[in-house]
Amino acid sequence: MTDSKSSSDLQVEKAKADAEAKPKPGSLIMSGMRSTHHLHIGNYFGALKQWLDLQADYRGIYGVMNWHAMTSRYKEPHDVARFAREIYAEWIAWGLDHEKNVIFVQSEVPELLELNMYFLMLTPMSWAERVPTWKDAEEDAKATDTHNLGRFMYPVLQAADIAIYRGTHVPIGHDQIAHLELSREIIRRFNFLYGGNLPEPKPIFSETPTLLGADGRKMSKSYNNAFHLTQEADDVVKALRAMPTDPARVRRTDPGEPTKCPVYSYHKLFSSTEDLAWVEPGCRTAGIGCGDCKMRLAGNLNAKMAEPREKKKELLANPDQLDAIIGDGCARARKAAGETLKSVREWTGFAGTW
Ligand code: SF4
Repeated sequence: MTDSKSSSDLQVEKAKADAEAKPKPGSLIMSGMRSTHHLHIGNYFGALKQWLDLQADYRGIYGVMNWHAMTSRYKEPHDVARFAREIYAEWIAWGLDHEKNVIFVQSEVPELLELNMYFLMLTPMSWAERVPTWKDAEEDAKATDTHNLGRFMYPVLQAADIAIYRGTHVPIGHDQIAHLELSREIIRRFNFLYGGNLPEPKPIFSETPTLLGADGRKMSKSYNNAFHLTQEADDVVKALRAMPTDPARVRRTDPGEPTKCPVYSYHKLFSSTEDLAWVEPGCRTAGIGCGDCKMRLAGNLNAKMAEPREKKKELLANPDQLDAIIGDGCARARKAAGETLKSVREWTGFAGTW
């Protein structure tokens, strides 16, 4: 038996060890979301919730990634732009502090593209080719007419997204280790070649619960089965009414098993311990009906969404106010990016002194 480990095992171990080292004061958390669609509950538990937790202790810079969105939605730039504005408003509505953090729109910071040029030159093709998500997505990309260079080079732009702001930590799921490791390698190579000191970002791991969509299948944009983060109250009720339950509960009198029911997986996220203590025995003894169970959940979901829903509407109804917030965030992002780019040009000799 051999105890030798593959390089990817070692990478995983190293990334885990790094993650255990909590970010120090002064760290800068960098993250973003593509503006391809409305935010849904998966986006909340997969990213936004963690950003909200982190902002208590750390500075953060969060980007609405509209260029990344264009890799798959290049035929619909107006939709990408509309969602960018909505997502920005939703982040604020859910409590992301736009004064404490820097919140920007990716395309408003053209300095990013210049750093990306360097990264594209120094990144071997084989590095981008080996990214698992590219390998997995290639067939889908061909089928959806998105087998384009932008999508292929997406991870390089991600490295530039982090480096241009000197991000030190990136919140990720365990399935994104390979992406972050590629960013680290690109940045390391840049520093080695040009004598730079861009930070190699470290991961902050998050556990994302597996959430099923309203139809009981995997939550997916292509199935159109996700709960939007600021969905109208009536729509939440309607979607929950149609949600499948434990298949064993054919009749009201049949006992069920909550752990086999997608409704219960939402209860665990949105309901109090008292409500869980009502659902679990009630379901198992057929003491409660699925309709009651779903309506209790609808009440809890709507209670959680009510304030952000109104806040988002208010922001979108006051375009001048929202424009001012977005303008300020983008200006602060550009300032930070400009400072990095100045150093980059000095390191590379492309300092404009011709
Ligand atoms: S009572 Fe609730 S948890 Fe049990 S099967 Fe019905 S909806 Fe699901």
